[in-house]
Amino acid sequence: MIDAHCHLNYSEKYEDLDEIINRAKEKGVDRIINAGTSIERSQMAIDLAQKYDNLFAIVGIHPHDSEKAGSFEQDLDRMCKEKKVVGVGEIGLDYFANEIDPKIQKNVFSKQIEIAIKNNLPLQIHQRHAGDDVIDVLTSYKNEFKNSPGMIHCFAGSFDFLNKALDLGFYIGFDGNITYKGLAPGEDTKLSDLALKTPNDRIIVETDAPWLTPIPHRGMRNEPSYVIITADFIANLKGIPLEEFRDITVKNTENLFNLND
Ligand SMILES: [Zn+2]
Ligand SMILES: [Zn+2]
Repeated sequence: MIDAHCHLNYSEKYEDLDEIINRAKEKGVDRIINAGTSIERSQMAIDLAQKYDNLFAIVGIHPHDSEKAGSFEQDLDRMCKEKKVVGVGEIGLDYFANEIDPKIQKNVFSKQIEIAIKNNLPLQIHQRHAGDDVIDVLTSYKNEFKNSPGMIHCFAGSFDFLNKALDLGFYIGFDGNITYKGLAPGEDTKLSDLALKTPNDRIIVETDAPWLTPIPHRGMRNEPSYVIITADFIANLKGIPLEEFRDITVKNTENLFNLND
């Protein structure tokens, strides 16, 4: 399996990194993609990908970090050209518990989309309570996107947002929070209903470790091996065997991030 989005680059949370990576491998999670949230964290993701064979990096600035991003363009562009960098993320808009002016967020988001397009890399999008604006921004680049422009990571929102993201060609990522009972604050559509409405040829699984730990480990640190729990949960929802669902998500993730090149 592949964990398509996590943060082993938060190394202060993973002093036992070798064990974490080995445990994932033993459980069958043989590839792990670490996402940046700032230039520094992106560089750490690249460093990890250079050290470990089965790790890959996604580079970008999270909307929470957009205000202090400064002039990041040259650094990001340089990082996009590094070996084992497979995408630009996590980038996007976050209007939940985030004071940063949407104008600033949109500006940093758009500049990063342009750098990704220039470097022929797919996007890994983060959004919370900002689905409409994310679709507006992405639509403005529609004609410049390739077949697979990217994925919406840690998907949440409405069916309308889901359909528009699918229409734009995006893959949809689900995390351990799909195992939680009830709705997250401000959401009105269950994650399991969204996963059921996501076609098999567009679905991807991820952990967002160290956060969003699935049940039964909720409350503890998350890790890539737990991506199997999320995959198992969704396979059950969809009524297909875990092995089949694993193969589907692996193929989708490989296709999107060109992991076999
Ligand atoms: Zn995120
Ligand atoms: Zn994340």
